[in-house]
Amino acid sequence: RTVYVNGEYLPETQAKVSIFDRGFLMADAVYEVTSVLDGRLIDFDGHAARLARSLSELEMQNPLSRDELLEIHRELVRRNGIEEGMIYLQITRGAPADRDFVFPDPDEVKPTVVMFTQNKPELADNPAAKRGIKVISIPDLRWSRRDIKTVQLLYPSMGKMAAKKAGCDDAWMVEDGFVTEGTSNNAYIVKDGRIITRDLSHDILHGITRAAVLRFAREAQMEVEERPFTIDEAKAADEAFITSASTFVFPVVEIDGVRLGDGTPGPVATRLREIYLEESRKSAI
Ligand code: PMP
Repeated sequence: RTVYVNGEYLPETQAKVSIFDRGFLMADAVYEVTSVLDGRLIDFDGHAARLARSLSELEMQNPLSRDELLEIHRELVRRNGIEEGMIYLQITRGAPADRDFVFPDPDEVKPTVVMFTQNKPELADNPAAKRGIKVISIPDLRWSRRDIKTVQLLYPSMGKMAAKKAGCDDAWMVEDGFVTEGTSNNAYIVKDGRIITRDLSHDILHGITRAAVLRFAREAQMEVEERPFTIDEAKAADEAFITSASTFVFPVVEIDGVRLGDGTPGPVATRLREIYLEESRKSAI
């Protein structure tokens, strides 16, 4: 596999990052994941815009313009022959000479940029989308700036492990009784035909797929309500689903062992997945 590190395309075995890199030492880094369908990028501009915002919230300089970023994404897709898959991008604050909690002076350290691809032949035709996924609920013990897409993924990772141990696929995180989001996705319920999902704030990541799916839902005259919902409300919902760049839309068929509806993917989630795939293939670049 060819990967990208600080301006160079290299075989993955030759890619190197300093042990002093603040991404490695302090999770002082942000990331993005962009999907590829038919060899083209899905929602690229949304991801580029959120990256710029994450960097700015952490007072990090953005080392790449939108066009440079696009070119690197395309070059990696070309070099690795990706038809269907993902591109991972990470920007860290860089590698100063010594470990220090204080941010290094931007004149003294350059951000580290790494990118790599992952081939995923079943991204669109995913068996989990047909079957639906099962989730457990766990308390949301992350920090309070979840709108910044940092690489602090230990807690979400522990959540996925708890789900796996419980024989489930993922975990929904709950704060004060209300669902924030999934470990790596935004969470939705459907009640009496209305799509309900938490409103945007510092409490959740502003999903790029979320923005697109809500736009498509409204264009299709579906009713959308952006507000927090409780985990109890979710268990009593007609259906539920998640969205993210790597899953698009996955129906949720069970929460904490409680089956939703008849335990099979609901019509709203199924339709939104179809619309999302069709529309985002059309607008891929
Ligand atoms: N919430 C969290 C916590 C996530 O990690 C992700 C995916 N990285 C999302 C939501 C979904 O965001 P997107 O649709 O931009 O992939």
